[in-house]
Amino acid sequence: MSSAFLIVDVQNDFVTGSLPVPGGADVAAAITAHLRAHPGRYAVVAASQDWHSAMGDNGGHFATPGTDPDYVHTWPVHCVADEPGSAYHPALDVSLIDEHFRKGQGTPAYSMFEAVDAEGHDLADALAAAGVTAVDVGGLATDYCVRATALDALAAGLHVRLLTDLAAGVAPETSAAALDELAAATSAAPDPRTAEQDRVVGLLGREWSAIADLLAGLDEDAWSRPALPGWDVHDVIGHLIGTERTLAGAQHPDIPADGECGEHVRNDIGRVNEAWIVALRDRPPADLLADFRAITAERLASLRAMTAEEFNAPSWTPAGQATYARFMQIRIFDCWMHEQDIRAAVAIPGHEGGPEAEQALEEVIAAIGYIVGKRGRAPDGSSVRIRLTGPVERDLHVVVDGRARPVEAINGEPTASLALSSSLFMRLAGGREDAEAALGRIELGGDLALARQLATNLAYTI
Ligand SMILES: [Zn+2]
Repeated sequence: MSSAFLIVDVQNDFVTGSLPVPGGADVAAAITAHLRAHPGRYAVVAASQDWHSAMGDNGGHFATPGTDPDYVHTWPVHCVADEPGSAYHPALDVSLIDEHFRKGQGTPAYSMFEAVDAEGHDLADALAAAGVTAVDVGGLATDYCVRATALDALAAGLHVRLLTDLAAGVAPETSAAALDELAAATSAAPDPRTAEQDRVVGLLGREWSAIADLLAGLDEDAWSRPALPGWDVHDVIGHLIGTERTLAGAQHPDIPADGECGEHVRNDIGRVNEAWIVALRDRPPADLLADFRAITAERLASLRAMTAEEFNAPSWTPAGQATYARFMQIRIFDCWMHEQDIRAAVAIPGHEGGPEAEQALEEVIAAIGYIVGKRGRAPDGSSVRIRLTGPVERDLHVVVDGRARPVEAINGEPTASLALSSSLFMRLAGGREDAEAALGRIELGGDLALARQLATNLAYTI
């Protein structure tokens, strides 16, 4: 994350001129000291100057000669272009400033985001070009141009800190009101450092709610319907509870020996999973649902309490070494797939579209090169389009040039194409349905032999 420092209007007229702000000279000196004390902290140090036309009233900004300014919308003549009053205050060391912006030529302009540099570029462009996601703001005056700049920075999706030691206001009451307003806007704005954490944890929470709601509507006997090889609905929930308890640091139950598991358990991870299922198998459905609600509530609270550093820390995941954030994305996929397993078992379809379904689909899309190249064995030089017709609509394009890789679009017609619902695509990718039996629900196009080969080899497992 890189950050910028925004110096608002530290100009002579706002310190010693026609619109003096109490403490303005101290602010100029304090900003200089701050920047000297933190060399390299900011990717960009940008400063603005109020810069009005000598002619006219600048769009009503200057009080008409002979009338008193109201100090809300009309002001005394100030910061006229190229006059001493519009120059930076001498206590501000201009050698520390990377980019200069000017605002107010002929119009009232309070926010630095309304200003442009000598080439006509605005502040938002300069910050975006430098990859800035956070800004510290200081200058003059807290209750007017600093306020407007900080609010615009928040509206632009930036993380904003108003450094109150490096700013001063015209009046105590309006300055306090500006700080209150800014605090309210800050708490309402998403923090870009945790936006992805909020998104992933939010989706996981919604996915768990969807599962709990589904379970709450089931008859007692529905819990024993077969859902996956060797597992009934009860076992699927036992598996989800066990996984989250393990992630919460709970003591793991004894792992059954090799010969003690059914044929559906094919490897060590399978036996580790099976331990929780065996341990929870005798729980009555209502108790198991209560267990599920309790562990998912506990997990949500701890996921929300994680710092951005913890959430993005390196971690084991079922798809290899990555980050904890990545692991939680895969949890959304796993939980959504198991929700659909239960829905299929109890014949209550639903939740096949929407944000959780889209996130689950992203997991398969991330493997689409592998699916088309390695599983589907699309030959070198070929191109493939997989059209998902809904509820999640998406066109996936893969070209094979040495290796299969996803691309935005294919030039001309693809070598082979498939069109099918996103729900069927997910079931096939997850190995939940026999592909031969599903062929009637897949539209094949182009090279039909290749299209059929792809359609019957979508299954891949993490
Ligand atoms: Zn002005």
